[in-house]
Amino acid sequence: MSQKFIELIDQSQRVVVFTGAGISTESGIPDFRTPGKGIWTQNQPIEFKDFLKSEEARKETWRRKIQTDKVLSIAEPNAGHEAISQLVQSGKVSSVITQNIDGLHQKSGVPEAQIIELHGNTTYCVCLECDTRHELQPIMDAFEQDETLPLCRECDGIVKTATISFGQPMPIEEMERAKKATLQCDLFISIGSSLVVYPAAGFPQLAKQNNAKLVILNREPTQLDEVADLVIHDEIGPTLKSMIAV
Ligand code: NAD
Repeated sequence: MSQKFIELIDQSQRVVVFTGAGISTESGIPDFRTPGKGIWTQNQPIEFKDFLKSEEARKETWRRKIQTDKVLSIAEPNAGHEAISQLVQSGKVSSVITQNIDGLHQKSGVPEAQIIELHGNTTYCVCLECDTRHELQPIMDAFEQDETLPLCRECDGIVKTATISFGQPMPIEEMERAKKATLQCDLFISIGSSLVVYPAAGFPQLAKQNNAKLVILNREPTQLDEVADLVIHDEIGPTLKSMIAV
């Protein structure tokens, strides 16, 4: 398996790595869909429209954020992130397209310019009106004291983590960059994604339609397994680590 993976990388000129929540489970961050452990098996997602219209939905969002941040704020990149970072340093990878919001690709040393965050980033906040960036910690400190909801210092708009919630429009620039990178690659590697969240899951399909090779590394089967050139149903960290060590 990993020999064929190595050959596919060797034969390619421009690789795109596409990651989902599965790459970060070995850093202690639960994914969405692993049975019994995934976040959605415990909490229903809060839709963007509800976040906008309901103060209670905003408070519940921040309560959850404070809970999840206990794990997220101390999470470190794992062997999978490190292996991808090494692959990027080798010069073959044009972009790392990620659905993740945890900032661990940046932490593992992948240059910011090569990371495309389709679903934003939860390590800082933005104003939904004027886009001003706000740091997370002071907002969380104020909320923890008396559930004060954050407002923008520039325009009084609603401030939210810089993530894309369910029902929130996708970021236009990131989507365009991801499409361009996908159409230019000759090898597309999907790692740790159930490939059920669209439009993100459309990128591996687009790569394949455009004649790139497709590799899927995921513990569980995905709906694109049958069209992939190589499918590895295994743990991400050990699999990628063994490949880099070869
Ligand atoms: P998902 O939860 O739908 O799928 C994750 C997949 O990874 C599952 O199929 C699971 O079997 C597999 N997996 C988990 N740990 C693995 C491991 N160690 N080795 C091999 N496979 C493993 O996640 P998704 O496809 O990314 O899509 C859902 C959404 O999850 C995205 O929108 C993303 O924004 C969000 N999310 C992100 C984080 C994060 O930033 N770390 C965490 C939870 C959810």
